[in-house]
Amino acid sequence: MFDHPSFDRHERVVFAHDAATGLHAIVAVHSSARGPAAGGCRFWHYNSTQDAVADALRLSRGMSYKNAMAGLPLGGGKAVVMLDTHRPKTPAMLEAFGRFVDSLQGQYITAEDVGASVADMEIVAGQTRYVSGLPRTAVTSDGNPSPKTALGVYLGIKAAVKFRLKKDELRGLTIAVQGLGGVGYELCKLLAADGAKLRVADVREAVTQKAATQFGAVVSSPDGVLFERADVIAPCALGAVFDANSISKLQAPIVAGAANNQLATAQDGARLHSAGVLYAPDYVINAGGIISVGREYLGGATAESILAEIHRIPVRLTEIFTRSSATNRPTSELADEMARQLLAEAR
Ligand code: NAD
Repeated sequence: MFDHPSFDRHERVVFAHDAATGLHAIVAVHSSARGPAAGGCRFWHYNSTQDAVADALRLSRGMSYKNAMAGLPLGGGKAVVMLDTHRPKTPAMLEAFGRFVDSLQGQYITAEDVGASVADMEIVAGQTRYVSGLPRTAVTSDGNPSPKTALGVYLGIKAAVKFRLKKDELRGLTIAVQGLGGVGYELCKLLAADGAKLRVADVREAVTQKAATQFGAVVSSPDGVLFERADVIAPCALGAVFDANSISKLQAPIVAGAANNQLATAQDGARLHSAGVLYAPDYVINAGGIISVGREYLGGATAESILAEIHRIPVRLTEIFTRSSATNRPTSELADEMARQLLAEAR
């Protein structure tokens, strides 16, 4: 583990196996310097344990950076649950996962990520109190982080458009969205309401057809959508979509989307910069959901104060864009530097 390429001084990496339910889960706590390590749980069909470990290591570090940049008093962690056809997600497996989270005694706080729903977190909450993203019980939140993430991404896209294209409005601009899940579809709603022209792709045909009907979106292919001639590309599916090959085929001046870990390697941020693409660092632009579930967990926030925090995302992004343009350095590098600085101060 200590020699793993994605190991970054993680505090803990814990594996759980529950024979009765088939649970194979990994929790990675990257940093608890700023508070309990918060980050969602991903339920996914991984090709190998190595892939799952790499995902947990990378995603948990991303959460440390995201929570620090969002100004939350939370550290960074992430859980992954390895599903396969013989080990589908079941209520019993979710309960076993809840007991696993509980055994960490609050060092890790879980919530939804890809493959998890509010209903799933309710089951987890039957076993542990170290969980967020639950149905509305107070005035602060309705649990599901996706619409809040979509709002932050929408505001971030507007900030990027203003910075790069010098436009105050999205009307008439073409925006390509890869992935129409919880976040991507909500994002499309906001973009369409502003008069943006949408190009959309998903591996689920029904959802692209729905977007075509509801928003007049043009349906693109899951692989081709990133290379559309658009003003903005918004990756909202899975990570590692930008590498030397895909960056060389990009035609849009702006990349701003919700997906975690969009860069395959750290060098790809520099590649995007060299290619003249304004990249909104993923963990800065997609912090709306963790702001919502983090505040729900911490307590003491209101719906208004959460919205106000989400509205600070474009401010933070504009600061990064401005620094990048002043220093001719990649936005990804500057964001990493700022996040590491915040973690070092907390340590
Ligand atoms: P989701 O599972 O609801 O949606 C993902 C969508 O992408 C699905 O519709 C899926 O069919 C589609 N998809 C998968 N592979 C694809 C491909 N190759 N091409 C096109 N579409 C593909 O997940 P989500 O909650 O909407 O999250 C989307 C991304 O945003 C993820 O990377 C997630 O980690 C990140 N994110 C989500 C949140 C949140 O609040 N949900 C917060 C921060 C970051």
